[in-house]
Amino acid sequence: MAYPLSPATLEWQRKARAHAEGDLIPHEEYAELHDGELPPAVAARHKARALELGISRMDAPVAHGGLGLPMLDQAVIWEQLGRVTNALCWAVPEAHAWMFEACSAEQIEAYIKPMMAGKRRECYAITEAEAGSDTDAIATTACRDGDHYVIDGEKWFVTSANKADFLFLQAVVTGEGRARQQALFFVDFGTPGIEMTDNPLFGHTYSSHHPTYRFNGVRVPVANRIGSAAAGMAFTRSWFRRERLMIAARCCGAAARLIEMGAEFAKTRVVSGHPIAEYQLVQAMLADSMTELWGARLMTYEAAAMQDRGADLSVVHTHCSMAKLAASEMANRVADRVVQIFGGRGYLRSNAAQRFYRELRVDRIWEGTSEIQRLIVARSLLKRGVDGLIG
Ligand SMILES: Cc1cc2nc3c(=O)[nH]c(=O)nc-3n(C[C@H](O)[C@H](O)[C@H](O)COP(=O)(O)OP(=O)(O)OC[C@H]3O[C@@H](n4cnc5c(N)ncnc54)[C@H](O)[C@@H]3O)c2cc1C
Repeated sequence: MAYPLSPATLEWQRKARAHAEGDLIPHEEYAELHDGELPPAVAARHKARALELGISRMDAPVAHGGLGLPMLDQAVIWEQLGRVTNALCWAVPEAHAWMFEACSAEQIEAYIKPMMAGKRRECYAITEAEAGSDTDAIATTACRDGDHYVIDGEKWFVTSANKADFLFLQAVVTGEGRARQQALFFVDFGTPGIEMTDNPLFGHTYSSHHPTYRFNGVRVPVANRIGSAAAGMAFTRSWFRRERLMIAARCCGAAARLIEMGAEFAKTRVVSGHPIAEYQLVQAMLADSMTELWGARLMTYEAAAMQDRGADLSVVHTHCSMAKLAASEMANRVADRVVQIFGGRGYLRSNAAQRFYRELRVDRIWEGTSEIQRLIVARSLLKRGVDGLIG
């Protein structure tokens, strides 16, 4: 039986599915063969449609011009967008609800509302060469100097930096307060001292790159600090919570499309006189995929719905980790099986299964690796017990 979704949620599902299938999927192969780029007119059309749908403001509060959608609706939308390869669904940035609580009125006007309108674009820089999983180990510093901070350090894997005009940047504050406290800053690209030192290629073909940046004495006004000088990690946890949940949702969407493709192909591909769908080893791959998708989708929907019910945030945090862990690991297994069902055809770059096989891999790594999600779940379990986590 399907998870009970309200008529309003089902309408969002329908609209997002139509956008994915009608607007985006037809351009996947072109993007794959052109370094992830689309013709400018097509990219502009996608951006306009995403803005019209409200994707950039679905999590933003109504009082600030957002849609203030329930988390479940948002997960359902991102699930449908997850059916698309080559990150074609990343046409606009997204203003998160927590940003409106964290940022000053001036910061909301200067950065967050323009994101909602698609006029400014963000990227998020926390990872460093020696600090990925262990975010406490970051070495980038923001040294207080009167009404400025001076930022020095290097950030790795800054996703979408090539499309962004500002960064959320996390640094250790020095020259004030207690030792090793971390703050989050708005840093405008174009500020003197920001230098791109590398722009490596990755396993997927996205127009959003993940470059490395050096910050050499970059002067940022104190007014660009988000919240207190010690609040950086709390905001980053809010970012992680939402991103992990939406990664889980996208993984469910990807897996659903993969399973549909695999089942359809299996019904028509005849080998040794029979459609391969009649062979039980192929059926097992489809059955395992379907069963795992169902489990991951229920977890993802429920992790979203419990936020809408106002559940304790630290428990929600654990559930977002469990959903990301389950859904990203599931989607990778599904992609592997569906490539296998397609046989040699599954290895063609023109086959979406092949693209998903490469693209989904990073969902087990970014926003916290699967191992880090396991640590979060284990710590929470040891503290709260089974009943404390799942009732
Ligand atoms: C394509 C891409 C885009 C990214 N985008 C961004 C971005 O926009 N902004 C940003 O800040 N970062 C970004 N990242 C960075 C990403 O979040 C990190 O790569 C990730 O958190 C892992 O850090 P690491 O690569 O340093 O791996 P490491 O921390 O070096 O980990 C290496 C291995 O050790 C394991 N490990 C580490 N600690 C433990 C432990 N305590 N117990 C068990 N196992 C452990 C890990 O799970 C992993 O398998 C991106 C990464 C990629 C690949």
